[in-house]
Amino acid sequence: MITRRRVLIIGGVAGGASCAARLRRLDEAAEIVVFDRGPYVSFANCGLPYYVGDVIIDERELLVASPELFRERFAIDIHTDTEATAIDRDARTITVRDVRSGTVRRERYDALVLAPGAAPIRPPLPGIDLPGVFAVRSIPDTRRIRAWISERAARTATVVGGGFIGLEMVENLIRRGLAVTILEKLPQVMPPLDPEMAAPLMQHLEASGVRLHMNDGLARIETTANASLVVTAESGVRLDADLVILAIGVRPEIELARVAGLAIGPRGGIVTDAQMRTSDLHVWAVGDAAEVRDVLTGQETVLPLAGPANRQGRVAAESIAGRDSRFRGVQATAVVGVLGMTIAATGASEKGLTRAGVRDFAKIYLHPGHHAGYYPGARPIHMKLLFSVPDGRILGAEAVGTDGVEKRIDVIAMAIQLGGTVHDLAAAELCYAPQFGAAKDPVNLAGMIAQNVLNGDMPIADWARLGTGDALVVDVREPDEFAAGSVPGAINLPLTRLRERYAELPTDREIWLTCGVGQRAYYATRFLAQHGYRVRNLTGGFATYRAFAAAGVPS
Ligand code: FAD
Repeated sequence: MITRRRVLIIGGVAGGASCAARLRRLDEAAEIVVFDRGPYVSFANCGLPYYVGDVIIDERELLVASPELFRERFAIDIHTDTEATAIDRDARTITVRDVRSGTVRRERYDALVLAPGAAPIRPPLPGIDLPGVFAVRSIPDTRRIRAWISERAARTATVVGGGFIGLEMVENLIRRGLAVTILEKLPQVMPPLDPEMAAPLMQHLEASGVRLHMNDGLARIETTANASLVVTAESGVRLDADLVILAIGVRPEIELARVAGLAIGPRGGIVTDAQMRTSDLHVWAVGDAAEVRDVLTGQETVLPLAGPANRQGRVAAESIAGRDSRFRGVQATAVVGVLGMTIAATGASEKGLTRAGVRDFAKIYLHPGHHAGYYPGARPIHMKLLFSVPDGRILGAEAVGTDGVEKRIDVIAMAIQLGGTVHDLAAAELCYAPQFGAAKDPVNLAGMIAQNVLNGDMPIADWARLGTGDALVVDVREPDEFAAGSVPGAINLPLTRLRERYAELPTDREIWLTCGVGQRAYYATRFLAQHGYRVRNLTGGFATYRAFAAAGVPS
């Protein structure tokens, strides 16, 4: 009798479900069995916050594919409410337990895929398990949150953690009419961003009525006499809340793998190679639980995002089917929308590069409109571009705005993937009609500004170094603009008067030029450089200064 190759998959959502479906397309003969300890497979975790906020009204919309669909369309066997509890790598079996009946059985495998995801971090603090304290990972979690809000007529919430999931929950709790406080240990929300890029977002959150309680961690949660909650921060500050959302990050679910002796990497994920194979030839790992390579820093990382999980599932399936597919690594391309603002990033941040010991890079800031200025409704996109010096290779980009933000980051993400340079961005041929972009798209502009830096046309100064030397800061905006707000210590010499008055400027000091967003200062830089002055453009102008000041840099 010919025995079919048996492929078992633990975890049936993003990585596991993609792997199963792809494998069936490549291998009609394999027996493919998926186990998930939850009641669903292939559900939209990314949609969960929007179900809480009533944007998605019908819970069934979250179910991307049902066990029946897997069975009928792909002949894939799905076992929900079935938890894998052990792996015997010598015998090539796993132990699974039916979570409803408690019965335990063994399942044989030829290939095993681990796709167990990552669990929300629940620090062992007093009150962390009280009723009304929720993490958001599954459909039942969101069902409980919805019920709690309705049954208690909840009016206030504290969201602990200001990352992606925390912010999405903030937006959706506000949609439900709750007043929301964010309790965040760091001085900024959205930790992957550099602090000055998070500043406009923080201002927007506050302007939208979100209370930000920063630089303070969670200490404990208690129930009050009226069955509400009070969150006490490490500083002793007490925040009243009808419910608490824990969104302080996730931790790869590696226990099964660890106990089975599979290698665990420095970032706490299951070690994988480019084919998503673990330290055991017969075992693959994908998704949030897997450790992968950061293509920019070359270091190992864990990146809990759905796109990489799906692609890794596909690569693992192809590897199991005997193909030589490879996962290229990750560059952390991500987007989040909150209360009308969009925040997106790809590649390395400045702090990430600094942490990785990368020195030879430069950064520029720009604030272009999301489409042509003459067409009504142009809104600024605050952008930061990081690139290596002198070769101009793009290292990362961050953008914050209301419209067209993720489109620009996606273009830059693709350029990074292709090993592109700032010269490629300058030369990129992109869509343009007035309501969509500009003849010089923000992506082109970013490339052109960076080219000016690399070829020496526009030496730049970093706002973070303001006040550290003896440079004279000259603001070239018009006097009324200068009067409305300026950099401390700056003098005003408008660009429109520069040709007649430039001789007033000292020749024995470096001159750092600034304006609104950096453009007029660029013109002034070119003029003064050609007249023998040592000049730098304070990149991104006063708009960037304000972001730095709001972020507390320079102090
Ligand atoms: P998961 O999708 O988490 O699936 C793992 C499954 O394995 C779970 O169902 C779990 O029950 C099961 N499991 C674990 N251990 C066992 C076991 N021992 N036996 C059986 N089953 C087991 N990413 C984005 O890119 N964009 C977004 O907008 C976004 N929004 C998100 C919003 C929320 C609220 C959450 C929670 C996540 C969001 N993510 C987002 C992250 C994204 O959902 C994950 O990166 C992705 O789902 C990871 O896929 P995975 O297959 O590794 O794990």
